Amino acid sequence: MRRRDFIAESGLVAGAAVAALSRPGGPEWLRAKRSRLANVVLRGATVIDGTGRPRFAADVAVDGDRIAAVGRDLAAPDADQFDVRGLVLAPGFVDIHSHTDLGLLVNPNAESKIRQGVTTEIAGQDGSSIGPWTDRQFEGTRDRYRAQYGVELDFRDLGGFFRRLTRDAGSVNVASMVGAGTVRANVIGSDDRPATEAELGRMVALVREALGAGACGVSSGLEYIPGAFASLDELVALARPLHGTGLPYASHMRNEDDQLFAAIEEALNVGRMANVPVQISHLKAQGRRNWWKAEDALAMIEHARADGIDVTFDRYPYVAYSTGLNSLFPVWAREGGTDAFLGRLSDQATMAAIELEVRDKVAKLGSWDAVQITSTTADTVRWARGRKLGELAKERGVEPYELLLRVTREDRGRAGMVGFGMSEENTELILSHPLGMVCSDAGARATYGALSSGTPHPRAYGSFPRVLGHYSRDRGLFGLETAIRKFTAMPADKLRLSGRGRIVVGGFADLVAFDPDTVADNATFENPHQYPTGIPHVMVNGEWVILDGEHTGATPGRVLRPE
Ligand SMILES: [Zn+2]
Repeated sequence: MRRRDFIAESGLVAGAAVAALSRPGGPEWLRAKRSRLANVVLRGATVIDGTGRPRFAADVAVDGDRIAAVGRDLAAPDADQFDVRGLVLAPGFVDIHSHTDLGLLVNPNAESKIRQGVTTEIAGQDGSSIGPWTDRQFEGTRDRYRAQYGVELDFRDLGGFFRRLTRDAGSVNVASMVGAGTVRANVIGSDDRPATEAELGRMVALVREALGAGACGVSSGLEYIPGAFASLDELVALARPLHGTGLPYASHMRNEDDQLFAAIEEALNVGRMANVPVQISHLKAQGRRNWWKAEDALAMIEHARADGIDVTFDRYPYVAYSTGLNSLFPVWAREGGTDAFLGRLSDQATMAAIELEVRDKVAKLGSWDAVQITSTTADTVRWARGRKLGELAKERGVEPYELLLRVTREDRGRAGMVGFGMSEENTELILSHPLGMVCSDAGARATYGALSSGTPHPRAYGSFPRVLGHYSRDRGLFGLETAIRKFTAMPADKLRLSGRGRIVVGGFADLVAFDPDTVADNATFENPHQYPTGIPHVMVNGEWVILDGEHTGATPGRVLRPE
């Protein structure tokens, strides 16, 4: 392609570009690229720029990895011309609670996410990040990835993971928080006891190290082992290094049902005591008997903001959650590893108490049919995949609890489940709240290869198109401008991802073109491995990754560090 001075030749553009250049010093990249031609001009777009302001008609010129111009009838005769008439052009989506991490080394295409329009994954959620690992933790994960996927891991902390992703890039950008649970596991292991002062000191040092490597926040997962063993004081100590960075403490809270208010209060207290922003992960009021709490939960969050705490939240657009099947069992029963856990299931001293708590948890959800098994690793229980526990027990003529025990034992506590525990009304309330962002709470999957296994939660394939199609267009919950802001500018700002989340001159060319009339999620709980429709083109850092609905194989993703 011939290169000419694009900016000097394109009337409307020049103004914006010159304004950018005239800032003190001027942006280095723009000066360097001034004399180059735009690579491509997207013609006739309906631009929804991520800020929430009303859509407008414009062409968008991309030069290298940046947006070079936004305006009507851009003159750029020698650039590639690309017709996006009839399509909405939005900034690439930022998935603020993602689980795409090592999976990107298994399949760099990030198929189920990029096809939704996700261009940036925020990993390291729920208290769990890619390191810092001890030698033993590293070896365990390395052996598993080697055996299962033929992928060699050569890093044991976020800094190393980021270096690897820089070498072996994927189709999406990745940023990551550091997990408080991972840090605890590194220093204390999986014992249920408070950290000593010396241990806490080492944990804080590991958090600082991760932030130094570019982590974009500290996450906790207080319903998981060993994250659940952290006290409020420990969480405050681990969040404190964020102070002054503007980066958030993000929490999968200690409880999302009967103790929801106490759990929200704890998350807010971490923000208050460490003096840092808070992101409440996948906010919900779980279990029929807790559905009344959603409005009060939102009110608590609003009051905290009025009190000076910079708190926001996110939510995936489904009424069922996805987790490990063993989450039905009490935390104390799972302490100390798989063998200890399985031992307690048949130990006379503990089995009755465990059964009681499991039955209570299931009653809270509604019934055994509120639990659907999604995945198993053991082939001996593969018949359970995709089935609801109540239905399956009836069919096999056994007690649902006995069935649960059998699957748990034979699969050694590794089976996955979805729980139908949330109300549709609350889901809409939470999604449409002005402080609410949208997440997938899922890692990238694919309809082929190693990432096509099992019956994952459909949110891995459908979250963002579901908000655009089902919730915005069909249900009319909010306009597309509001929807898009919830997964572009809002998360990018919260995580200080400079140059992302907006269609603006000088911003990175992460772009999604979708058809507002047809965009739709297709993944269901029964048949989740289905890509969405109506999102024909997705660009990451100026390169097409999805073009005319096909994956180009491009891997222009980068590691993003907050600025
Ligand atoms: Zn979570």
